[in-house]
Amino acid sequence: MRIAVIGAGLSGLAAARTLHAAGHTVTVFEKGRQPGGRLTSRLLDHGIVDHGAAAVDAPPGTELGEAVAEVMASTTDATRMDVDGPSDADAPLTAPVVFAGGLAAFARRLGAGLDLRCDARVARIDVSAAGVALDEEQGGRLGVFDRLVLSAPAPQAADLLARAPGADARVAALGDVVYDPAVVVALGLPVTPPARWLTTLASGPLRQVVVESAKGRPHPAGLYPLVLRFSADLSGRLLDQASDEDVTRVACDALRTAMDLDASPEWRAVKRWRYGIVRRTARWDDLNPPGARIVLCGDSVSAPGMPATFASGLRAARQLLAESS
Ligand SMILES: Cc1cc2nc3c(=O)[nH]c(=O)nc-3n(C[C@H](O)[C@H](O)[C@H](O)COP(=O)(O)OP(=O)(O)OC[C@H]3O[C@@H](n4cnc5c(N)ncnc54)[C@H](O)[C@@H]3O)c2cc1C
Repeated sequence: MRIAVIGAGLSGLAAARTLHAAGHTVTVFEKGRQPGGRLTSRLLDHGIVDHGAAAVDAPPGTELGEAVAEVMASTTDATRMDVDGPSDADAPLTAPVVFAGGLAAFARRLGAGLDLRCDARVARIDVSAAGVALDEEQGGRLGVFDRLVLSAPAPQAADLLARAPGADARVAALGDVVYDPAVVVALGLPVTPPARWLTTLASGPLRQVVVESAKGRPHPAGLYPLVLRFSADLSGRLLDQASDEDVTRVACDALRTAMDLDASPEWRAVKRWRYGIVRRTARWDDLNPPGARIVLCGDSVSAPGMPATFASGLRAARQLLAESS
């Protein structure tokens, strides 16, 4: 079968790997410049920062755990982290994993060997007897496929599905999915950072402070890159209305109050995620009726957490494989 996958995040890559391994012709379309989706990193003048999730949570006994172990066996770029930083050889396999090259490097490794088209945004899906046709914004045809795995976040998936015949119930189910926004700011601070690479906060303006320089990558002497994630409420307020300068000011105030860290950043980079962390998901059966030529996966249709999101991609692939055999 010719199978298209829309989205090269954790779930889309999981689906694509499985379908490719089963011998199908798989093409992955990703609108971003690199794979990873919300597992992503950015190369700034001062080094790499992860400005989506901070690490991969891949406990043993999960399929994501197996995939991460496979990747770790082929690279020295990956490290398990305990609370104080890189852990020793006896680290528990439950410890989260970071990549010196950033989480995009992990996604690139997951996507190795796949026909992955980045900077390829699918604007329309048309379903006919000939197959599932994908078009780009300017109307150019990206291809016609026998099956499609759609892994975009729910609102984007709903927009794409809206024109597919008989998709009303699925579009309605996608409308029930709720995401918390996440505003993230990377700061270069000329002060000694917190001793712990990861600080999580239960209340106040910040939810997470990550010392990126603890992830085994070079950074300028005396200048430490930190990534801060705001609470969902504050992220909602900062998402559209605050300038990058405002976001930076709020971040510095919060760092001073929450962590007694007082410094002016020498550089900063703000990332705004409208669909950051899923809060309410849809039921698999509502989105993926038996026999559907388009199967949806991703965190909109999985239990919380990265292992479940990865597993949703595997499940989408297995549903297609079972129905085609
Ligand atoms: C700041 C932040 C921190 C987080 N921290 C954690 C955490 O600690 N623990 C945890 O479990 N989860 C965390 N998450 C959530 C986790 O990252 C996501 O649940 C997971 O990565 C989602 O994977 P996915 O495949 O479902 O979707 P995505 O990663 O969003 O992948 C979907 C892909 O589809 C692409 N796409 C969308 N529309 C189109 C189109 N029309 N054409 C082509 N491509 C398209 C997108 O560009 C994207 O790459 C965090 C998220 C954020 C933003």
